[in-house]
Amino acid sequence: MAKSQHADVAIVGGGVMGASVAYHLMAADGALNVTVVERDPAYEHASSSLSLANVRIQFSLRENIEISRYTLSVFETFEEDMAVDGQGPRVMFRPEGNLFLVDAAGREIFRRAFELQQGMGCRVEWWDPETVKQRYPLYRPEGIVGATFGPGDGHFDAQAVLMGYRAKARALGADFVKDEVVAVTHRDGRATGVRLASGEQLAAGCVVNCAGAWAADLAATAGVDIPVVPVKRQVFVVDTAVKPGGPLPLTILPSGLYFRTETGGLILVGKSMEEDPTGYSFSYDQRRFFDVLWLELAAFVPDFERLKLVRGWAGLYAVNTLDRNAILGQWPELTGFYLVNGFSGHGLQQAPAVGRYISELILGKPPVLDLSIFSPRRILENRPIQEVGIV
Ligand SMILES: Cc1cc2nc3c(=O)[nH]c(=O)nc-3n(C[C@H](O)[C@H](O)[C@H](O)COP(=O)(O)OP(=O)(O)OC[C@H]3O[C@@H](n4cnc5c(N)ncnc54)[C@H](O)[C@@H]3O)c2cc1C
Repeated sequence: MAKSQHADVAIVGGGVMGASVAYHLMAADGALNVTVVERDPAYEHASSSLSLANVRIQFSLRENIEISRYTLSVFETFEEDMAVDGQGPRVMFRPEGNLFLVDAAGREIFRRAFELQQGMGCRVEWWDPETVKQRYPLYRPEGIVGATFGPGDGHFDAQAVLMGYRAKARALGADFVKDEVVAVTHRDGRATGVRLASGEQLAAGCVVNCAGAWAADLAATAGVDIPVVPVKRQVFVVDTAVKPGGPLPLTILPSGLYFRTETGGLILVGKSMEEDPTGYSFSYDQRRFFDVLWLELAAFVPDFERLKLVRGWAGLYAVNTLDRNAILGQWPELTGFYLVNGFSGHGLQQAPAVGRYISELILGKPPVLDLSIFSPRRILENRPIQEVGIV
């Protein structure tokens, strides 16, 4: 159980968000009593462990672009900043690029996003279909009017980031407890703490919901209704007969199919689909690959027609059904209850900026990045924000 049964801040969920919030709180004020309650410290089903760990500046909302830029700057010194006893996590960031293929229907949307990104000084290029073909001769960009390429986008080691924040938060004094929160307790419109499956009550005037895809269940225990649902997403690992002869960027087709090279000469493939089931299922379905994804992949890269499905996995997106964007901040109707939820497929890359921002809100400090656009108030006011580049 916790080092005391009272905390200044109780964080529910010790995935990348919970760990980042804990780290930023402790880094700002080492005297704080911060407890993170995580029921599965092995993170078997945590999205942070099942992610593709991509980071990109290619969003269409200014704040999402700023968040990713911040992450890239944090990665530059992450190993030193998170070092404990001289040992730091290796982020292994590989800037192999993100390539979004654009069809006629998407042209205006992508053009506007591209102009915004360029106007903000981001590294992004607009390619015509010929350039796509020249740069990646394996691709057959038919029905494509262009593409946007972010040469500084790429992927990293998710576990290193999660464990880096966790280890450093602990070294600074945060307490990580293995238990399950069964209820957020409250009185007279204020959060008072959390009740644990072990039967313990942890009193805290500030409770932070970092429960990932389980966020709505947790919020419901406090009578708070948030539009976050767990949606199963699958990733497949294939060994193609023809090897690309170098890294391929994370390539995203207008249909939503995406793929990229993985170490060991393998290719990762996935696609978010309308019919992806909601709920807490982690089984992966080979038919999805053979019936749908393989055909689309081989149409775009004919040389990938011959391949072997090596393995796959399923994880959960915490989908915010209002607008698929993050929900960040105190719930207006329950003082001391903070939401850090609804990241869909882009939460891992947002953890550095989000953890910092939530710690600033809790401590009443002026934010380095103003992320108030993601305030939970928009849920009560049914005011979605627009982001068109999310996959
Ligand atoms: C297949 C896939 C690919 C993805 N690709 C990317 C990508 O390329 N780039 C990117 O940025 N993001 C990606 N994401 C999304 C990203 O992984 C998530 O947005 C991010 O990891 C969310 O972190 P989290 O800490 O909120 O949630 P999680 O990592 O799920 O952590 C939540 C934790 O809360 C714990 N918990 C829940 N309820 C309780 C409770 N009541 N008591 C105690 N503990 C509790 C759980 O055990 C869990 O460990 C992907 C996700 C998936 C599934």
